[in-house]
Amino acid sequence: MAPPVLLAAYLAAICTLGFVALIYVLTSTQWTAIADELLWWPVMFLAVAAIAGEVKPLVVTSRSEERTLSTSAPFVLALIVVAGVGVAIVVQIIASLSDDVLHRRQLKKSLFNTAQYALSVLSGAATYSWLAGVPIFGSPLGVEPGDILPLMVGGIVMVAVNWVLVAVVVTLASGQTLWTVLRGDFREFLVTNAVLLCVGGIAAIVTGDGVGALVLLAAPVLAAHLFAAASARHAHDATHDALTGLGNRGQANYELGGALQNARQSDSDGPGFVFLDLDHFKDFNDALGHPVGDRILCKVAERLVDAAPENSSVHRLGGDEFAVVVRGGVDESEQVARDLVASLDAPIKVDDLELLVRVSAGVAAAPMHGTDVETLMKNSDIALYRAKVERDQISVYSPEFDVNSAERLQLLVDLRTALDSRQLEVVYQPQFNLADRRMVGVEALVRWNHPTRGTVYPDEFIPLAESSGLIFPLTAFVLDEALGQLARWRASGHFLRMAVNLSARHLSDLALPDRVAEVAERHGVSLGSLVLEVTETGILSDPVRADLVIRALRERGVAIAIDDYGTGNASLSYLKRLEIDELKVDRSFVSNIGDDHQDLVIVRSTIALALALGLRVVAEGIEDESTAVALQELGRVVGQGYHLGRPTTPDVIEAVLDAERQASASHKTAGY
Ligand code: C2E
Ligand code: CA
Ligand code: CA
Repeated sequence: MAPPVLLAAYLAAICTLGFVALIYVLTSTQWTAIADELLWWPVMFLAVAAIAGEVKPLVVTSRSEERTLSTSAPFVLALIVVAGVGVAIVVQIIASLSDDVLHRRQLKKSLFNTAQYALSVLSGAATYSWLAGVPIFGSPLGVEPGDILPLMVGGIVMVAVNWVLVAVVVTLASGQTLWTVLRGDFREFLVTNAVLLCVGGIAAIVTGDGVGALVLLAAPVLAAHLFAAASARHAHDATHDALTGLGNRGQANYELGGALQNARQSDSDGPGFVFLDLDHFKDFNDALGHPVGDRILCKVAERLVDAAPENSSVHRLGGDEFAVVVRGGVDESEQVARDLVASLDAPIKVDDLELLVRVSAGVAAAPMHGTDVETLMKNSDIALYRAKVERDQISVYSPEFDVNSAERLQLLVDLRTALDSRQLEVVYQPQFNLADRRMVGVEALVRWNHPTRGTVYPDEFIPLAESSGLIFPLTAFVLDEALGQLARWRASGHFLRMAVNLSARHLSDLALPDRVAEVAERHGVSLGSLVLEVTETGILSDPVRADLVIRALRERGVAIAIDDYGTGNASLSYLKRLEIDELKVDRSFVSNIGDDHQDLVIVRSTIALALALGLRVVAEGIEDESTAVALQELGRVVGQGYHLGRPTTPDVIEAVLDAERQASASHKTAGY
C-alpha cells in the first residue's frame, strides 16, 4: 500500500495547481464584457441544471458496487461556450460545494474537489478554444455547427481529466494500481458520458434559441435518471438475495474473483473465503415453520454483517449457507470466522422465543489453499464439512482433509446401506454397584460390522450420522434392539436398567418422547428401566426445546443421565434445574484418580454434590481395581469400565447375570 505521505503530497499538489488555475481564470475573465452579452435566462437554466446534476447524480450500478455519476458535465460544457470558462468554472464549483455541504464532506475533500474541477473545466475549455480557434477568455460567441467536434473533444478532455485526478486518489488510498481503478469503471464511464456529452453539445447549440428549447432537453436527462435507476434495481435484484438483501452466490463468486485479482496485483496474501452453515437449521424450519425460519435467517444475516470487517463482503449462498470474502490471509480470515461464529453466541429473539442458532465455519485463503475462485470455494466447503464432522465450530482447510473427506463420504454412503442390511449391532457394557459389585444396568453401544473394514467404532461414524440426519434411523434401531433385549432378559428373570445414548439433535425433536413410549410398549417393557444419556453440549445447543423434550420423557418415567459429565461447561446447578436423574462422570477424570490428586478432588466433590442433589452417580472408565476401590469409598456409586466389564454381546451379559444369581442363591442356602 502506498504510504499516506504520497497521498497527502498528491492532494496538496492538486490543490495548489487547482487554485492557481482558478485564480488565473477568475482574473483573466472579462466579466463586464460577458455580463453585457450574457443570455441571462438560458445561462441561469444551465447553471441550475448543472447544480441539480451534481447534487442529484445518476445511480450507476456495476456488479461490485453502486456508484453515482454527476450529470453536471453536459451543462458545464455548454456554459463554456455560451458564457465562457469563467462562468462555467464558477458554476461547477458552486455545484460541487453544494454537494459537499449536503453530504457534510470534510473541508479537505471540498478543497480537493474544487481544485480538481477547476483543472478539469479549464482543460476542457482550453482544448475547445485551441481546436475551434476561438480565444479562451474572449466574449462568449455561441457555437457554430463546425465547432461541435472541438466541443465534444473538449468535453471528453474535461471528464477524462476529472476521472483520472480522482482515480489517482483511489489508487493511492487503496493500494490498487491506477490501471485497475480506471479499468474498473471504464465501460460505464464511457457509455454514460458519451450520452451526457451529446446532451451538452445540443444544449450549447440551442441555448441561442432561448430557455424553451433547453427545457426540452430536460426530458432525455430525466429519462437517463429513470433508466439508470431501473437498471440499478435490476442489477441489484440479479446479484442479491431477496430475503436478506445480501449478495448472492454469483456475487460471492464475483467478489472473490475481484479480490483475488487485487491481491495478486498488490502482491499481498488473501483473499480468504469463510463458508458458514447453520447447524441443524432444518429443525427450526420443521418445528417453527418457514416464516419463522426466514426471520431467523434475516437476523443471522444482520449479525454476520455487523461482525464482518468493513472491507469484507457478506453473502447468502442459499438456504442456511452464508459466505464472507475477507481481504486478508489465513490468519485474518480465521479471526473473521471466529468473530462471525461468536456473533451468534447470544440467542436470537423471534417473537417471544429465544433461539440459540449455532453455525459452523470452513476457512480457505489464497494463496495457501488455492489461487482461483473455484478451488477456494471447494476447499472452504471441505473445511466446513470437517468442522461439522469434528464438531469444532471453525476449521481451516488443510490438504489432508481431502483424502479424509473422500473416505468419510464413502463411509457415509456405506452407513446408509448398513442401516438397511443389518450390519449394525448393539453391544452392552455392564454397570455395577461398586459397594456389592452386582450388575445393576447396561449401556447399549452400537457397533458397525463393515463388510470390508471389520468393526467400525461409533466415534468414527456417529458424527457422520449426526451431520447427515442418519442419526435418527440409527437411534431408532439401537433403541429398538436395546428395549427388545431388555424384554428378553426380563423374561429370564433379570431386572436391569438399560442406558441408551442420544445425540444432541434428538433433544430438538419434540416427537421423540412419543416414539420412545411406542417402542417400549411394543416390547412390553416399562419406561422406568430406560435411561437416556445426553450430553451437556447437547442440552445447551438448544436449551428451550431440550427442556421440553427432557420433561416429556421424564413424565413418561424415563430417567435422564448426563453423559461425559465434566467435559462440557454446564454447572451442576443448571443441570439440576433441568431435572435430571443421573450423572455420568467422564472417564477422563475417573481413570486418573489414582495418580492425579486434582482429578481425585474434582471427582470426589462432584460425587458428593451430585449425591446431595439426589442424583444417581455413574463413574465411567474404571480401568483398574484401585480406582474401583477409591470410588467405592466416595459413596453410593455405580461403576462402568473395562476393568469391570467390556462392552459385549447379550449372551455374555446374561451369563454373568446367571452366575450372579447362582452365587447369591448358594449364599442363601449356605445360610448367609
Ligand atoms: P460414551 O457414551 O461415553 O460410551 C462409553 C465409551 O467408553 C464406549 O466407547 C466404551 O467402550 C468406552 N469405555 C468403556 N469403558 C472404558 C474404559 O474403562 N476405558 C476406556 N478407555 N474406554 C471405555 P464406544 O462404544 O466406542 O462409544 C464411543 C461413543 O460413541 C460413546 O461414548 C457414545 O458417545 C457414542 N455412541 C456409542 N453408541 C451410540 C449410540 O447408539 N448412539 C449414539 N448417539 N451414540 C453412541
Ligand atoms: Ca454414553
Ligand atoms: Ca460417556
